[in-house]
Amino acid sequence: MKSASLLLALGLTLSSASNAQDFSQVEIKTIPVAEGLHMLMGRGGNIAVLAGDDGVFLVDDQYAPLTEKILAAVHAIDEGPVRFLLNTHWHGDHTGGNENLGKAGVVIVAHENVRERMSVKQVIQARGIEVPASPPAALPILTFPTSITFHLNGVTTEAVHVAPAHTDGDSVVWFAERNVVHTGDTFFNGFYPFIDVGSGGSIDGVISAVDDVLARADDETKIIPGHGPLSNREELQTYREMLVTVRDRVRAALVAGKGADEILADKPTADLDAAWGGGFLKPEDFVRIVVSDLSR
Ligand SMILES: [Zn+2]
Repeated sequence: MKSASLLLALGLTLSSASNAQDFSQVEIKTIPVAEGLHMLMGRGGNIAVLAGDDGVFLVDDQYAPLTEKILAAVHAIDEGPVRFLLNTHWHGDHTGGNENLGKAGVVIVAHENVRERMSVKQVIQARGIEVPASPPAALPILTFPTSITFHLNGVTTEAVHVAPAHTDGDSVVWFAERNVVHTGDTFFNGFYPFIDVGSGGSIDGVISAVDDVLARADDETKIIPGHGPLSNREELQTYREMLVTVRDRVRAALVAGKGADEILADKPTADLDAAWGGGFLKPEDFVRIVVSDLSR
């Protein structure tokens, strides 16, 4: 059975619905993160901007109708050209500006599964949502299987592919000398995360991606989440605890032989919902995703 609220949440997440959204009121907020590094918030995934004499490096680009505003915000930081765009994964709220930027000559880079998925129609299986293939100019022209390192603006910027987590093409991007990381959608700061099981994602993968970041981060690390405000190691640790709690409860219920409806009726996240349930996903939608993931 489809959940109307999950469909709505997916509509906000995926490019298939971007035409139906009104972007005219969206303002791009610029948040300083570290020397030469800013985070942009508008609608869709958070953007990282690394600026300097060697040109601008972007992580993710939200939706196509926002490209002009995003570039205005970027050029208020630095007037130089945008040279590279790294996509953390294929979802349209992180790649919607690709066609505009690709046509402008920006080199688009991503894990090889991002290009593969964007090249053909995608179906969010359990929900029956179709996302059409992207036009050629929107596709990453440089792909990598495990990691890629950029040496720009005095910063070693390393995009590292993690085992399937939010999707099967996720990258986490480290700006080494600045002690900053962009986690892509392996981290929703303050909300239950969408996990795209149909694109190869899993909650165990998200937890393991979070563990990798926790292992490398320290108390000074600035963490740019895929969604939500600028964050830090302590908040990421809290997020991990929530994920593990929900996973363990759902798994225990499945082992006890309960079905999806019974598990939902038990409200296994009731004590967590005040803190985590006010974002993209309603608690029951998140539980449904975890049930479908762990039932496979
Ligand atoms: Zn996503």
